[in-house]
Parts: sequence; C-alpha cells; structure tokens
Amino acid sequence: MNVLVINAGSSSLKYQLYNMKTEDVLAKGRVERIGMDSSILTHEVEHQPEVREVSEILEHTTAIKKVLDMLTHRKFGVLRNIQDIQAVGHRVVHGGESFSQSVLVDQEVKLEIRKLFDLAPLHNPAHMMGIVAVETNLPDVPQAVVFDTAFHQSMPPSSYLYAIPTVLYRKHKIRRYGFHGTSHDYVSKRAAEFLGRPLEELKIVTCHIGNGASCAAIMHGKSYDTSMGMTPLEGLMMGTRSGDLDPAVVPFTINKEDLTLNEVNSMLNKHSGLLAISGISSDMREVVEAMGEGNEKARLAFEMYAYRIRKYIGSYIAAMDGVDAIVFTAGVGENSDALRKEVCKGLTFFGVYLDGQRNAVRSQEPRRITTDDSRVSVLVVPTNEELLIARDTFKLVQNRSEKKSE
Ligand code: ADP
Repeated sequence: MNVLVINAGSSSLKYQLYNMKTEDVLAKGRVERIGMDSSILTHEVEHQPEVREVSEILEHTTAIKKVLDMLTHRKFGVLRNIQDIQAVGHRVVHGGESFSQSVLVDQEVKLEIRKLFDLAPLHNPAHMMGIVAVETNLPDVPQAVVFDTAFHQSMPPSSYLYAIPTVLYRKHKIRRYGFHGTSHDYVSKRAAEFLGRPLEELKIVTCHIGNGASCAAIMHGKSYDTSMGMTPLEGLMMGTRSGDLDPAVVPFTINKEDLTLNEVNSMLNKHSGLLAISGISSDMREVVEAMGEGNEKARLAFEMYAYRIRKYIGSYIAAMDGVDAIVFTAGVGENSDALRKEVCKGLTFFGVYLDGQRNAVRSQEPRRITTDDSRVSVLVVPTNEELLIARDTFKLVQNRSEKKSE
C-alpha cells in the first residue's frame, strides 16, 4: 500500500509518499506560496535531481492536483497513475479533547476539527483545506488525521489543568494540551527498542528541540506531562517564542509600551526567545557560531536556552520519581552536541554522565551519548513524524478493510 502524507499550512503544503511494505519514501516535496501568482512546487526523488516548478497556485485543491500530477509525471513521477495512492494521512495540530488517537476522516471528524478552529486558528483551518482538497482530487481514497495533541491526552488533570477558575476549563476548555505528540510518541518507542526494554517499564524524558521546542515526561509509554500548554507558546525558550513567563508581564507591557494585545501576542511568538536574547538569530547554528566568536549576548541566549531544558528535565524526573532515559530529538536536539553538553552538565546529581566522543558523533540512527557507567542513558533519536503518520494511516485503513470483509 502507498500512503501519501500531507502537512498542510495556510500558504504551504508538504508531502511524502510512502511504500508501506518497505516504509521507503518514494518521493517528497512541498508547495510554497499558495495563494500567490508565483507558487513553487519542489519535488524530490532519491538519487534524482530536485525538480522545481513555478506556477500560479491559488488554493489547496490546485496544490494537491499539482502534487498528484508530479507524482504521476512521465519523467519525474514515481507512480503509474493516481489509483496507486491507497490512503492519505494528514498532520493536524489540534485535536483538543475530542481526539486521543488518530482516526479515519468522516463527516463527524471534520465537524469536530472545525469546532477546534478557535484553539488553533493558524493551523486547523489550513489542515481542513488540505483534507477537502484531497477529497476533491481523490474522492474514493480513505483519509486519516493524526493529531499533535493526541499523544498527550493521557495526562492526568493535575498535569493539564491551570490553576485558574475551573469555569474557564468547563466553558472554553482552557487547559494544557501539549504538542509535538507524534514526535514524543515516535522517539520514546524508538528509545525503548534501542534500549531493548519494554516501553511499559520505562520512565523517559523526551526533548523535542527544533524551531519549536517541548519536553515530555513519558511514564510507561504514556505522556504524563509536557511543557507546551494550551498553545505552543508555553514551556521552553524557543527560536522566536518566549516560553514560560509571568502572565502579569502581558498587561504590564501593554500599559507601559502602549501596545495592543495582538502586538504583545506577536512579540511573544515571533520576536522573543533565542532571537530576542542573542539579538542575532533564531537559528541555533548562528547563535553557536557567534558565541564561538566571543559574542556575549549569544552566550547568554545559549545558556538560558539550555538552562530551561535542564530545569524541565529535572522537574519531570521528580514528577515521575525517576528516569531511565533522556532523549534528544529534532533539528537542534539531533544536531547540536554543544547544546546537549550544556544541558547535561547540570544533571550529574541524577547520574547522567555524557561521553564527549559519543556526543560528537553524527548519525541518522538512534545512539547513546552517555558513558557505560552512567546510571541514566541519554540518547539521540532522530524523529520521523511523517513515518508515524503513514503508519497510523496504514493501520487504520487496514483495520477498516478487515472489518468490512468480516
Ligand atoms: P521545526 O520545528 O521547524 O520542525 P526542526 O526540528 O527542523 O524545526 O529544527 C530546525 C532548527 O534546527 C533550525 O532552526 C536550527 O536552529 C536547528 N539546527 C539544525 N542543524 C543544527 C546544527 N548543526 N546545530 C545547531 N542547530 C541546528
């Protein structure tokens, strides 16, 4: 079975086509600048030069049509015809409390996702455009949705409630949801496989450190707590997001700087984090480079960023009353040995001892970066959210076919 994985944003759309027998990626790519006259489709097939096509793509239905044309293109395509796509899986950011696992799309599911537009106004409407666009182009192909929040639905109320009047939770569902769930789920499973131990026996802290960043306490395979909250703004310091701060900063800043709520929201989401403190960039590579050249602001940004991660790891070890493994993943977590070293240098009390040489190794495979006598294993596990979306979609479609044939 071939599964097409779609991650639809408001003006962009990423895709990967999987052969589920081998779990190989047959092709992948993205459409950027949807809604503009010079939209760009970039298409990649292994061992072949990248293809770039510029055209006018005004909405998602046309974007999907272009992707399907490319996948079946005589020269650049990998499929004979579009009937060779047997299922489509979509990444959906917010599943609220309605979805604690991936599901096949039907009218009811679409209605539920629509109800959640308020909680993720930048993401869910775009995902819905992707779902409708696939429906229009491939009306007979089953679609599944895989939610960033679903994995964290196992959190207990003591983790997910905010200490504010409970009427706000009852009326508006204001609570912690957590994000990057697909990644935390995937890397914790891979970590257990790597350690050769059942996931159900393990206490793991996963650190997904990319442009957006979050930590999760994963107890016996289930999310027990996570650092992102009702939105992806809470928790760790990120590329451009502030992470945790005293909520009183918001009204105070509005008064002192004569800003609107929207302006403060934009400041906290787009002009804070690494970018604000370093004054250089939201990209960890550039911050580390500047630090190497003696830039003190870059050093402070780097240290603050690592310190927040260390604090979360410590608090999650306390929350779970122990830890077997700490896992780093995503762009910064997988690639920056400097960051991993800075985070772990404060964890020796817990029995975490990094091995400098192992930490410096680069690989696409999961690996241990602690010494053999370190009580806790620190692992680097490359994440693969698309593969998990493809696997969930495949499983759902297979189960449905089995039920039908019973
Ligand atoms: P996203 O959250 O957008 O999925 P990624 O997980 O792809 O982000 O992470 C992207 C970030 O990874 C970049 O902004 C960059 O800061 C960081 N990154 C990539 N390579 C390195 C590296 N070698 N050293 C430090 N940071 C890196």
